[in-house]
Amino acid sequence: MADLNSKINSMKQKYREIFLTSVEAIKQRVEEIKPEGFEGDIFDTFEADSLGAQWQKAVLEMFENDISHEIYRKWKEILAYRENFHCKGCATCCNLACSEFSPEQLKEKAQNGDKFATQFTSIFVPYETREDAEKVYPEYLKLLKDTLDEDVYFYHCPKLTECKRCSDYENRPEICRVFPDNPLSILPESCGFYPWRQEVEPVALMLHSMVEIIDYYKENINK
Ligand code: SF4
Ligand code: SF4
Repeated sequence: MADLNSKINSMKQKYREIFLTSVEAIKQRVEEIKPEGFEGDIFDTFEADSLGAQWQKAVLEMFENDISHEIYRKWKEILAYRENFHCKGCATCCNLACSEFSPEQLKEKAQNGDKFATQFTSIFVPYETREDAEKVYPEYLKLLKDTLDEDVYFYHCPKLTECKRCSDYENRPEICRVFPDNPLSILPESCGFYPWRQEVEPVALMLHSMVEIIDYYKENINK
């Protein structure tokens, strides 16, 4: 278990480092388009049409037209690269799905038209007890609990047969067909997409950090 804990700690540490690097990179791009000789901080309050306000507008346009497109393009590349990896049929994702939402919350979301929640609740049922979930894959469950900050709920699919096969494979819903569609999903080592996730994780974390930082700028510029 020591290995697992160090893996989790290093991941959090890794994100911190990547986040700080992204902060500096974005700060530099913001400064690069600052009007020459202009004194002031991007988060200051400026008069409309002043040099400062024009700078803020240019920064927001840069986020919208350049950086967001770069992020989107790189994310698409990561997803395209996923095609080189394949499901090994270990069935962990059918047997131990997790969600930050409780069964009641998911049901409510599905009733309100949430597509993912609708599919999720149509296939997965909650484990009766946490101990039942723990028996399936204790290491993976620990990894999920420790990696995710919030509390999570565990589910399983009754369509999985005893020999770990999907009994309705041809009609399985989209969320089963595309799993894992997020390179930051926490995957068990048994998953055929685990090497993909490992390989693309630094870039995916960098993109994730850039989105967080851009959101911060957008929320705080010209408040
Ligand atoms: S429907 Fe099939 S593929 Fe989807 S979770 Fe259930 S057993 Fe797995
Ligand atoms: S965890 Fe990965 S390898 Fe295992 S069944 Fe799911 S997608 Fe396939």
